[in-house]
Amino acid sequence: MNRLVPINSETEIPAHFRETSIGLLLEYHNLGKSHEPYSSAQLLVGMCMDNRKHLHIPDNFAYIIRTGGANLRYSEFKVSYAIAVGGAKAIALIGHTQCGMVNLIARKEQFVRGLVERAGWQREQAEEHFHHYAPMFEIGNEIDFILSEVKRLRFRYPNIPVAPLIYRVEDNKLYGIDETNDLAP
Ligand SMILES: [Zn+2]
Repeated sequence: MNRLVPINSETEIPAHFRETSIGLLLEYHNLGKSHEPYSSAQLLVGMCMDNRKHLHIPDNFAYIIRTGGANLRYSEFKVSYAIAVGGAKAIALIGHTQCGMVNLIARKEQFVRGLVERAGWQREQAEEHFHHYAPMFEIGNEIDFILSEVKRLRFRYPNIPVAPLIYRVEDNKLYGIDETNDLAP
């Protein structure tokens, strides 16, 4: 977690984000900037579906796509829509600490039992479901995953700034990620 960059003042917002709606997101959420009115979206936020996170942003400010692990690989049409039709000018991809999509395999038994007991599935059906989808949604490590996903999005949408961010559920703040020693593919 030592690659996380705290942002507790305007000067700590990386210069290349400051002039974009990513800088505004950081000001609203981390610095308590008072909400301005927006009539159209400025930003697309990709974040995990996890219940422990809530962004402090104005109405109409952002499109938000929530998925397991902030994984947008299976949401590309929605990303394209938010940019092309929605007018989002930048993307903030927000991973988080304690993400359940890290080491998903360790939760197999809990997943299967939960579907059997709570949803009325057959055990065999639940196991097959897990084995089919878990490899698609496993993210390995939240920081490395966000960095590799950001690279993919930058390549796919070359004119759109994309910021890798982490939401620490321990203090509910957004952090930048130091990309200088990034070894992700
Ligand atoms: Zn998560």
